[in-house]
Amino acid sequence: MDDYSHQFLNEIECTKTLGKIVCVGRNYADHAKELNNPIPDQPLLFIKPSTAAVDMRQAITIPKYRGCCHHELEMSVLIGMRVSHASSAVAKESIAGVGLGLDLTLRDLQDKLKAKGQPWERAKAFDGSCPLSPFSKAVGIDVQNLDIKLFRNGVLQQAGNTGDMLFPVVDLIVEISRSFTLLPGDIILTGTPAGVGPLLSGDTIKAQLGDLVMVDTTIV
Ligand code: ZN
Repeated sequence: MDDYSHQFLNEIECTKTLGKIVCVGRNYADHAKELNNPIPDQPLLFIKPSTAAVDMRQAITIPKYRGCCHHELEMSVLIGMRVSHASSAVAKESIAGVGLGLDLTLRDLQDKLKAKGQPWERAKAFDGSCPLSPFSKAVGIDVQNLDIKLFRNGVLQQAGNTGDMLFPVVDLIVEISRSFTLLPGDIILTGTPAGVGPLLSGDTIKAQLGDLVMVDTTIV
């Protein structure tokens, strides 16, 4: 596996080195509902290591013989500065770019871990579990009004809008930075809209974030 580094679609002042990936669970009510999960009263957070990241534009390898692997297409946020206990104003300023991320999830395994009350990392933080698109700059963009779409083999599977997040990006950064200092190059995956489902080897995937970011890729 090639080492991952961030790619930019336009001029972004930020390191290309990925630190950590902070992920948000159940940030869209329609997705919480489709998996019969309660709607959280504060953001549900987990972390993927930098070794989870791969370039979404390259063929994506999913684990074999480990049960069902689901796609969760999410808006990714690239952090451009060090933030700890951020105010809303600082949180807003820290957004360097936006893109797409796939929070690949071994759903059968996650269900087993959830039933035992165990952490989800084996199901969500494995090598290659976070394909990332290039980033587009966030200046002048309303990050809370972007369509997210995933087509699997030409069929629209996920469709959402970032305006439907239960916790918008600025609130997420405020909350996350109370527990985890965010550093330049860190990523936030902001949660998936509904429509998650299994991936199979041979699938073709088209992923879109508004008209900012578009990726065509394949599953192997
Ligand atoms: Zn997710």
